[in-house]
Amino acid sequence: MGILNSDITPFAFENVFFAFLQKFLFFIRLCASFCLGGESCVRCGNRSFVFPLCRRCRRDFAESDFSRRCGVCGKELVSELEICSACRKSPVIKDVEKVFPLHSYRFWKKSLLFDWKLGGKRSMSVYFAGMVAKKLKEIESENGPFFIVPVPPRPGKIREKGWDQVEELCFYLKYGWNFQVAPVLTRLSSVQQKKLGRAERLSYGGNSYALTEKKKLRRFMKKNQGRAVIIDDVITTGSTIQNCAELLISAGFKSVYALSIFIVD
Ligand SMILES: [Zn+2]
Ligand SMILES: [Zn+2]
Repeated sequence: MGILNSDITPFAFENVFFAFLQKFLFFIRLCASFCLGGESCVRCGNRSFVFPLCRRCRRDFAESDFSRRCGVCGKELVSELEICSACRKSPVIKDVEKVFPLHSYRFWKKSLLFDWKLGGKRSMSVYFAGMVAKKLKEIESENGPFFIVPVPPRPGKIREKGWDQVEELCFYLKYGWNFQVAPVLTRLSSVQQKKLGRAERLSYGGNSYALTEKKKLRRFMKKNQGRAVIIDDVITTGSTIQNCAELLISAGFKSVYALSIFIVD
């Protein structure tokens, strides 16, 4: 199977019609990129087309850059133990079985995330989705089927910017790779947080995320197999993942995992 090769082609979708459509769109983008003189690779500076990473750097990037990670939070391990000292002493992540990060957030990889998320290089979405899909397949074969739960953007972001990187990633995972996506979380604005009554505020415990309206939640929970994988673009302290996981457990999920493209070590 294509996706199990280390050389990921971003268009190796399982959904054949979707793959055809995406390849067609890619071809148009490629022509446009070619006519405009291409892009400059964020890693080596060579010319690249469509993606802000050249072909050679994309191949290198397809390999995750680490092997020894904490069995809980996913951060780089410095000692021989399987769990990092932070997770042993005062863990931030308590309701997640395991965090699976794909890359350490360093050097030129910071520019890559910046270009994608804020620089409008949406072409990277399909490419990242291929990498995430590969890891999700591994998680699925080891742990069984699950729902993907995206970390929601701040309120109003889609209206302002027109898109959100995590949502777009989940779009490819859903239509290209047939994963089940359950957008059961929402992010509260500071105004909404202030409006909550005291009791509610206490029960949220400073959590700026919440479960979506009951009707939507019930629809997903009916098909729930007990497992969820939270998807985010970058993990910094782990508190977002923990806040989201806590809500999913309270909604009835039995085990929650998390996957991010980058992690700040
Ligand atoms: Zn390059
Ligand atoms: Zn840890």
